[in-house]
Order: sequence, then structure tokens, then C-alpha cells
Amino acid sequence: MKTTASLPDLCFDNAWVRELPADAEKAVFQRQVERALHSMVTPTPVAEPRLVVHSVEVAEMLGFSEDGVRSQEFTAVFAGNALMSGMQPMATNYGGHQFGNWAGQLGDGRAISLGEVVNGSGKRLELQLKGAGVTPYSRFADGRAVMRSSIREFLCSEAMHHLGVPTTRALCLVATGESIERDMFYDGHPAQEPGAVLCRVAPSFTRFGHFELPSARGDIGLLQSLVDFTIRRDFPQLVGTSEQKRADWFAAVCGQTAELVAHWMRVGFVHGVLNTDNMSILGLTIDYGPYGWIDNFDPDWTPNTTDRQHRRYRFGQQPRIAHWNLACLAQALAPLFESIEPLQEGLRRYAERYSACERRDIAGKLGLLECRDEDIDLMQSLYLLMASAEIDMTLFFRRLSIVAAGDLVAEVFSETFYDEAKRGRMQGELEAWLARYRQRLAEDKRPDALRHQAMRAVNPAFVLRNWLAQMAIDQAQGGDETEIHELLDVMRKPYDDQPGRERFAQRRPEWARNRAGCSMLSCSS
Ligand code: AMP
Ligand code: MG
Repeated sequence: MKTTASLPDLCFDNAWVRELPADAEKAVFQRQVERALHSMVTPTPVAEPRLVVHSVEVAEMLGFSEDGVRSQEFTAVFAGNALMSGMQPMATNYGGHQFGNWAGQLGDGRAISLGEVVNGSGKRLELQLKGAGVTPYSRFADGRAVMRSSIREFLCSEAMHHLGVPTTRALCLVATGESIERDMFYDGHPAQEPGAVLCRVAPSFTRFGHFELPSARGDIGLLQSLVDFTIRRDFPQLVGTSEQKRADWFAAVCGQTAELVAHWMRVGFVHGVLNTDNMSILGLTIDYGPYGWIDNFDPDWTPNTTDRQHRRYRFGQQPRIAHWNLACLAQALAPLFESIEPLQEGLRRYAERYSACERRDIAGKLGLLECRDEDIDLMQSLYLLMASAEIDMTLFFRRLSIVAAGDLVAEVFSETFYDEAKRGRMQGELEAWLARYRQRLAEDKRPDALRHQAMRAVNPAFVLRNWLAQMAIDQAQGGDETEIHELLDVMRKPYDDQPGRERFAQRRPEWARNRAGCSMLSCSS
């Protein structure tokens, strides 16, 4: 299963496989895997692989030339039909809390890591296929992924990167030429759908659940090996005694997680399934499933139909859920700490860092030089107003970033509303808020042009609205993949006005309000 010709010799340094204990059982069948953090497993080849799209930036970062990407070998490798020399494919073992309940062993049921590349700049980048076939962790599922959700993950992870939100990246998306069966809404209507393999890339794919599983099983030796490994490989900047390093490490994880969630709230991203197995130890957005983007501002909105009843993972609750997830991680790590004080300190760090980020983003989004205490209330009033008036979040803040202070009247925001009646009813309230805002801007004495420049760097014009991704998916399923490439390109410069591309910066069209794939997604992918 080796190929060489058109592909470069990447430098693989598979630290995880080399330094952590592997499953002794080599056969692939579903089971509980104890005393091991991974199982060696090869991808299952697919019938007719075809490269659909790739990220030029990620390919370059890894050392692939454009010719290399276009070669048959590249497609074969990233379909799971061939291996490059140095790759050691494996699936990792983790557990997690799903929707608030301990779920036991989960593991990479359809993800297979190919290896860790150290690139020309010394950066470590793990390559992981998603949808590459069964592993010992596949439970009752097929180890595959459908094209629609793979397009969504590919586009969104690249879009997030360009928005400045920490995330796993995507190298490429390959169509398998095979179809798989999915019951999209678990309602007894399964259908055949085209399959895909996505290659995602990150310095580390370690999740909170990797620590929770050995801890829950009382395998403290394994937990300790993983913590020491993670500090060594992923947090090399930490120094001091091992007790000190562990404390600083947990605090760093809490801090990075706070930054991550603050970014989500700034751009209007709803992850949709914030289970602890979907939380990255590096504070990256990971596992794009039934995620969504806020159109009309609504803190209670969740795109995930599986979560419709309790809305645990709704937009406005993400900061609290991240804290809850960190508390699960703290509990898992507790056996390695003599006192729980450093863990409590880390959780406090989360709250502090989150409110610092929140202040930074309030100042940024409103174009203020600093966020004073009363500005928190100014923003809160705006959010309440936006929610009851059904105002488009992205459009509103972008408008705010281009209109001169003297011209800020309700009229200017007409096209950010979804409902004419609500627009009429809320006009007075919006005028009142704008008056308050204009007064606050006057205190800063910053010229409009400078303020606008700063605001446009944090208030994007383009986000991967659910209906945009769905349109690209619909067209791809009709045989036309150009919209995927176009969207990828638009999302490369989300903070720039892109003349001629206004259609990507529009509010959600009426057809998308309650459509599957736009406002209704499930975990079935
Ligand atoms: P997710 O909801 O994608 O975070 O997945 C939760 C768990 O289910 C993880 O252990 C996944 O590996 C597993 N899983 C999800 N879809 C599949 C599939 N099609 N085949 C095998 N395992 C899967
Ligand atoms: Mg997951």
C-alpha cells in the first residue's frame, strides 16, 4: 500500500504512536479497549476516489505542491487507498460526556490519524482522515461520512481559520464513489447518500475525553502518561516541577478555551454538540457536525435537532457549557493533583479570561477605545433589542462599522431586519439605543475612519451562513461543484468588502428559515 512518485517526502514524527501505549489486539472489531490510548488500524479503501476540493494554504503548509495535489497518488492517500512512507495509521481511544451524561468509551469511530508531519518551519501537523472506515471504536456504525457534512466541515473549518477563530484545518475532501445509508433525522426514512473522506489537520487532536476515559476506569498510570505526553508535545513552553507544570497546563487549557468560546460569540458560531469528546485540549474548534451560524440574533437558537428539547448547546449557553466541560476535565485530572486548589484556580482563570475577552470584544464590535462597565450594559441592551426585533447579527455589526456616527439612524439598518412588522414596532427602541451609542462614541473622540477600520477587523462581512453551505451542497449533489470553490474563496477574506460578491453577505432568504440543512441539522452525518 505504498506510493511515492509525485508526492514529497514529508517528515513524519509520530510521537503519539511512539510514546503512548497501543492496543495489543490487532484485529478490527468493536470492543472496549483497556490500558491503551490507540489501536493501529488501516483505512478501508474506497471504490472510486476523486478529489473534490483542497485548501491551497494547508497543502502549502504541509509541503505539497499544486502538482502534487493534482496527482493520483495524492487522491489515493487522502481517500485512504494508499499510504505515504512514514505514515502509521491509528484510531485513538477516548470517552466523554454527551449531553451532560457520562457515555463511557467512544473513540475515533470514523477518524483515522495517518501521522504527525513536522513541516519545514518545524510546526507539527497531524493528518487525520474522517470517514475512512471502521475502527475498534466504530460501535454500531460504518466508519463513513456523507458528502454533505464533509463539505460543511471542510468549508467551515477553513472559514473559521480566516476569521481568526482557533480551529482544526482541512487539507482536502475526496468523494469516495460509494454510497452509504443515513437516516438524516432518525425518523425511519433512511436514504442512500454519497460518501466522502475529509482530511483534517491540527497540531493535536487530543480531546478532553482522552483524559476522562482512563480516569473513569481508574487507570491512573495511563492518565499520567497522557498528561505528561501532552505537556511535552503540545505545551513545550511550560517549565518548572512536574506539579507546577500540570497546574500551569490546566490553567492554560482553561485560558485557551475561554478565548475560543469568546471568538464563537463574537462571530455568531454555534457548535451544536459541545460534548466533552468534542473539546480540544488546544482550544481549537473541533468536530464540525450540526453546527450553525446566527442569522437573526437569538441566544436561544441551536441548529441541532437532536438537542431541540433542552437546547443545552444553544448559542447563548456556550460559555457556561465550556466551563462545565472544563470542570469534567478537572475532575478527571484530580487523581494527579495533591490538592484540588490548582484545578479550582484554573476554572477561575476560565471565568476571568472569558470576561476579559468579552470586554475586549464589546469594545471591538462597538468600536470603542475601551470597554467601561457601563458599556457592558450598552451591549446587553443591544443584544436584547436585536433578539426581540429579529435583527441579523452579522449585517447589523457590519453596518455599524461603515456608517458615520452622525448618520446612525434606524433607517440605515432597514435591511438587517427579518420581519417588517417587528421593524416598525422596534424603530423607536432602536433610535433610542443609537442615540445612546452616538453619545458614547462622542466621548472617545476617535475619527469615524479609524473607528471603522478597527471595527471592520472584528465584525466580518462574510460568515458561512447555513443556507450558503446548503446551496453549495445542493448544487454539488446536482453535479456542479463550483459553488464550493467560490465559497471557499469568499471565506478567505471575511473582513474585506468583496465587490461583486454581495450575494454571500445577505441575510437568510425565506426559503432557508426552516429547511433541513439550514436551520435543522442532526448528529447523523
Ligand atoms: P460525534 O457526534 O461526531 O462527535 O461522534 C460521537 C462518537 O460517535 C465518536 O466516537 C465517533 O467516532 C462516533 N461516530 C459518529 N459517526 C460514526 C460513524 N459513521 N461510524 C463510526 N463511528 C461514528
Ligand atoms: Mg466527536
